[in-house]
Amino acid sequence: MENAIDVAANLAAVRRRIDAAAPRESSKDSTVTLVAVSKGHVSSRIRPALAAGQRVFGENRVQEAEGKWPTLKTEYPDTELHLIGPLQTNKVGAAVDLFDVIQSVDRLKLARAITDTLARTGLKRRVFIQVNTGEEPQKSGVLPTEADAFISTCVADLVLPVAGLMCIPPIDEEGALHFALLAQIAQRHNLPCLSMGMSADFESAIRFGATHVRIGTAVFGPRAPANTIAAKR
Ligand SMILES: *Cc1c(COP(=O)(O)O)cnc(C)c1O
Repeated sequence: MENAIDVAANLAAVRRRIDAAAPRESSKDSTVTLVAVSKGHVSSRIRPALAAGQRVFGENRVQEAEGKWPTLKTEYPDTELHLIGPLQTNKVGAAVDLFDVIQSVDRLKLARAITDTLARTGLKRRVFIQVNTGEEPQKSGVLPTEADAFISTCVADLVLPVAGLMCIPPIDEEGALHFALLAQIAQRHNLPCLSMGMSADFESAIRFGATHVRIGTAVFGPRAPANTIAAKR
């Protein structure tokens, strides 16, 4: 069924929906960046998106991204790659090497490792701090009650280039409460970016101020189960 997915048409439809959901008043400040989530998809599925002008992509595993993106980035050097999945400290070097933005900073050890790597390499990167708004034990992210202290430490002590916050609401809950909570925390710290909203709920996230929506399925179609992804190139 590979050919049944028209990535360029899906992209155009998603872009129209983003435009329709974006607030009209503050034209300049309200730009929403579409992060096309290409995890679980091979390069031949990603290329039509690049050909259609899409330049911002998200992947959730360093190793999987290393198999696809060095080549694609050579073909499209202005591509911006976001890491949206959990990051182990021993992979920070590889992550900083390949990704332009790391959206999943969620603990001090990781924040320190990124700061050190940026200092050592001189590379410029932006990060988001992931907040576990649903306080789910199996999910990454700092707890809402710990977010203020963690953000302050990252910004003031580590001087980490924190652009904003990211959240993944519980799958069985309305996103609205989580989006509102994330927006509140970001506002307290004057952080300009909010990465929230996926295929099922991005319009709601935009109404709550999302600046980055992470959309996979609505652009690329269904993907293979997560544990079979790494072997696919
Ligand atoms: C997979 C993933 C997405 C995209 O999800 P879709 O429902 O396919 O749009 C967004 N954010 C994160 C963190 C993901 O892992």
